[in-house]
Amino acid sequence: MSYLVTELIRKKRDGKALEKNEMQFLVEGFSRGTIPDYQITAWLMASYLKGMTSEETVALTTFIKNSGRSFQWRELSPSLKSAVFVDKHSTGGVGDKVSLIVAPIAAAMGMKIPMMSGRSLGHTGGTVDKLESIPGFSMYPSTPQMVACLEDVGTVMMAQADDLCPADKKLYALRDVSATIENIPLITASIVSKKWAEGVDAILFDVKCGNAAFMETHAQAKALAQSLVRVATLAGMKAVALVTRMEEPLGAFVGNAVEVKESLMILSNQYKNEKQKSIIKPLVDLCVEQVVQLALLSGFLNNRKQAEEQARATLLNGKALELFNKMATAQGAIDHWKQKLPKAELTFLVKSNQRGYLHGIDSKKLALLGFDIGMGRQKSSDKIDPTTGYEILCQVGDSVEPGTPLLEAHLHTAEQFHSLENNLRDAFTVKGAAPDSSIIQNTQQLVIEEVRP
Ligand code: URA
Repeated sequence: MSYLVTELIRKKRDGKALEKNEMQFLVEGFSRGTIPDYQITAWLMASYLKGMTSEETVALTTFIKNSGRSFQWRELSPSLKSAVFVDKHSTGGVGDKVSLIVAPIAAAMGMKIPMMSGRSLGHTGGTVDKLESIPGFSMYPSTPQMVACLEDVGTVMMAQADDLCPADKKLYALRDVSATIENIPLITASIVSKKWAEGVDAILFDVKCGNAAFMETHAQAKALAQSLVRVATLAGMKAVALVTRMEEPLGAFVGNAVEVKESLMILSNQYKNEKQKSIIKPLVDLCVEQVVQLALLSGFLNNRKQAEEQARATLLNGKALELFNKMATAQGAIDHWKQKLPKAELTFLVKSNQRGYLHGIDSKKLALLGFDIGMGRQKSSDKIDPTTGYEILCQVGDSVEPGTPLLEAHLHTAEQFHSLENNLRDAFTVKGAAPDSSIIQNTQQLVIEEVRP
């Protein structure tokens, strides 16, 4: 069926919903190159301003998914016939290395995790960049390699291949330059289409909420969580979302190679000291909660207590660490890669110049300062420096005085430090009176709400 593109744009501009066939015509025409960018941009802006119905969002998701290939793991390998396939997706945080911990725990328990991840963009980090700091690690395995990883290891980590949801890549590039990124139906279709193509039975969405998140308010985060869960369910997946706090960095480290090191600390349950363990604890609890949710959602286990015990045991008995090592080897990491993780030559302490109590750590500010040292990307063509990063040395509620270390910066030169030092210090809010105990408790309990279909 053929339509006049201007009529479809006009229909959306006037606040009417597009039919499934009309959506198919737009997405397929755009993918093939028969509908030009300027018309799709006009339709994106009209959709941004007028919104989309659930039916339109599901149709958009379907045709983005159909623009490339999809994985059918059970058909690719007889030994995967009765496996349970799960994945998680985070909307993006600062210090968010949850995937590096959840995948090995869940795989060590017996679930299969084909995990497709993104690169750092804006102030949020990217799992692809973190894993690529491991020398030799390839985020672009071939399909036979993916199948072998799922069979032998239980998980495979991958970047989005060109033939997976290609319409999403093209649409995202237009959204990026037309101020149409921040829109719930468009975000939903972009995320769910990729998870659908990935061939999983159950998906957990970690929707970040707070000043360092894409969705700053609880209401926005909840609306995105509801939309993701609704559309993923209509696409035939089991889905749940956790709305989680994103104010302070997740865990103690922010960067790329330093976050891989922190993940290894967690997987081996070995911390530098009790303070570091305490700073990292909320992150560990969040990882365990995500594994529990995946086990229950997929039907892999049906008892919460048992799922939590298994997840924690897998962390403590070294099985999850063993699995991470196996995964790294299977994906090309060189021998003795842990000793060869890239690291910055120098470390510098940022110390408090005030007396009082720590009330907040502005992770967005820390991440934005990181652009100057290659920790993240402002635009997709920027190059990452895998070595630079921060270690947070304190927690909300701590008493501090002049000279108390707040952060350790991993850098290449003293000049880098001098240009950043005062701004890094400003990311730590110190006030005279201690924060309320409920504020401290909030920083330790990252899950704000669970959203189900
Ligand atoms: N992440 C995605 O994959 N797509 C969006 O539109 C936004 C965040």
